[in-house]
Amino acid sequence: MRAIVDESLCSGCESCVGLCPTEAMIIRNRIAKIMVPFCKGCGYCVHGCGEEAIRVLE
Ligand code: SF4
Ligand code: SF4
Repeated sequence: MRAIVDESLCSGCESCVGLCPTEAMIIRNRIAKIMVPFCKGCGYCVHGCGEEAIRVLE
């Protein structure tokens, strides 16, 4: 499992960054990006996103 970001919804608020235990989430050009090799699919970032821009794929 891993998370993906819908870039059209992301506001770049950075709320998700501090929630990721593996530091997989970064901000580039005001959009959240996930470094896929580091993402464990835990979903913590999903619950921190007020824009509902993140979801976890199985
Ligand atoms: S699903 Fe978990 S590991 Fe992956 S980016 Fe979100 S918080 Fe980080
Ligand atoms: S919490 Fe959501 S809106 Fe904010 S930077 Fe992360 S993905 Fe984008």
